[in-house]
Amino acid sequence: MTRLYDISWEDYQRLSLEEKAPYLMQDEGAPYHTLYAQQFDGPLLGRLALLANEIRAIGKTRVGTEFLRSQVSHKRAMLYFTQPSSRTFLSFKSACQILGVPTGEVRDTSISSEFKGESRDDSVRTFSSYFDMIIMRTPEKGLAEKSAWVLSHSERPIPIINAGSGPDQHPTQALLDIYTLLRSFEKHGGLRNRTVVFCGDLLRGRTVRSLSYLLTNYPGIRMIFVAPDELQILPDVLEMLKRKNIEFACSNNLRAVIPEADAVYMTRIQDEWDKSKGESAKIDTSRFKFGAEELALLSPRAIIMHPLPRRDEISTVVDNDPRAMYWRQMRNGMWIRTALIAMTFGCENRIHDYFRFNF
Ligand code: ASP
Repeated sequence: MTRLYDISWEDYQRLSLEEKAPYLMQDEGAPYHTLYAQQFDGPLLGRLALLANEIRAIGKTRVGTEFLRSQVSHKRAMLYFTQPSSRTFLSFKSACQILGVPTGEVRDTSISSEFKGESRDDSVRTFSSYFDMIIMRTPEKGLAEKSAWVLSHSERPIPIINAGSGPDQHPTQALLDIYTLLRSFEKHGGLRNRTVVFCGDLLRGRTVRSLSYLLTNYPGIRMIFVAPDELQILPDVLEMLKRKNIEFACSNNLRAVIPEADAVYMTRIQDEWDKSKGESAKIDTSRFKFGAEELALLSPRAIIMHPLPRRDEISTVVDNDPRAMYWRQMRNGMWIRTALIAMTFGCENRIHDYFRFNF
């Protein structure tokens, strides 16, 4: 096995994401660090989804809940979230609670030693003295990766989970999105030969970047990227799709493509990344919203997704339609993150055994 402690930072940086992936895995193909979507292939996604399904079934009874709570009670996790978060933070915290993992948190660097000038590298080394895993969200691209490398070269190498790294990636959101798609289509032929329409701010929406990569693991997937020209998906994603022979199209007409969609993935305008104040407000986004008229064009079997939070890009009239999947998507996040933590800490087989004997 290649491991992160075997390679210098400079050599590691020269690798493509696909080449980096093996350095982040542990025996039996489970992730050790979770940093990018590129670490997950179809079989691993299937393993995670199965584990999440078993965990949610086990968690329905009191004895099952107690079994789950005893699984990782000897480990502690640090939630290091220096960028706003509701769902990712709460679902990771709930996932830790489900597995009995006590948590600590820093959400505001103005009340930690970073305010006194401590470097990020020193901060993560400090956390690793007290915790056995760091789940981190940062506005900085690449920080989770650097932290994983730093810890791998310290005497306390502990796993890092990237809970959102700037506008770059959000791999665990993509895991919950895939889990939602798998569950939605499991009784109707599965997640193959599907058309996924992404709409909104595709330039700065990290969830779209991670999910478009994960979708390439499923045969016959087609992606349509719908955005105003100023907010269209970056060329690196399109080049990756070309390399993998995945069919895709770019469009600025949502209504025209809705009838083809099996899933419409809406996103908000990410104006926190504006270079000058009010920059995004100048873009006409009025045709990149999903309301009653768009709903009427959607196939009865298709689903509507959103990583949330939403602003006005999905009208509340859509909320109670059975195809609106965003509330369930959010709950799926808790279960798939529980599965990821359980797998990272080596509990997968114990959970399978419990499930097999009790269900
Ligand atoms: N919650 C998602 C994220 O953290 C999507 C968003 O913020 O728009 O990237």
